[in-house]
Amino acid sequence: MQIVDVQDKIDHELISHDQIVKRINEVAAQASKDYAGKKPLVICVLKGAIQTLSRFVSALTIPMEMDFMSLSTYGAGTSSSGKITVRADLTTDVKDRDVLIVEDIVDSGFTLNWLVGELKKRGAKSVEIFALLEKPARHTVDVKLKYTGFVIPDEFVVGFGLDFDEEYRNLNSIAVLKPEVYEGEIS
Ligand code: 5GP
Ligand code: MG
Ligand code: MG
Repeated sequence: MQIVDVQDKIDHELISHDQIVKRINEVAAQASKDYAGKKPLVICVLKGAIQTLSRFVSALTIPMEMDFMSLSTYGAGTSSSGKITVRADLTTDVKDRDVLIVEDIVDSGFTLNWLVGELKKRGAKSVEIFALLEKPARHTVDVKLKYTGFVIPDEFVVGFGLDFDEEYRNLNSIAVLKPEVYEGEIS
């Protein structure tokens, strides 16, 4: 059997694992201060935010609860459709809760703009966002982030939860794949 290593598909690394962990810990320390005396409901937007959520909550020092929501935007491609579908909903009532959304990346902003509106409609007391990555070059909808991990250039990235066609979520850094992978010449 041929041995395939995901590292072989990487063109270049954008953010190392150590940088990511350090930054998430900084954000968690700040959020622990900002939410002191409260018990936020931390919402993980599946599946991309799973690694960030995990690191983030383990570094929070305040009481909190977590829940998960699965939204679809991209499908298998690399450009946003702007149409949001709920694949799996929360099990928690957000009414009167301080909600902190954890998201992998803000690109056009459509997903988060929709989600913030939806949670407010459901009666959340406050809705804030922590996005690990932000691509400001492509914003078409205005989204206010309370915490940002890293601002990145307009490149399609994978790793630390982010996928290309459902693969590469297990990479422990943020990277750009070789062009042949996106073009479907190798898989
Ligand atoms: P938006 O609605 O802001 O355009 O896109 C949000 C979603 O699109 C993200 O949560 C993520 O799932 C996906 N996305 C946007 N840019 C990238 C990217 O560079 N790489 C990957 N893997 N997904 C992205
Ligand atoms: Mg996402
Ligand atoms: Mg995706």
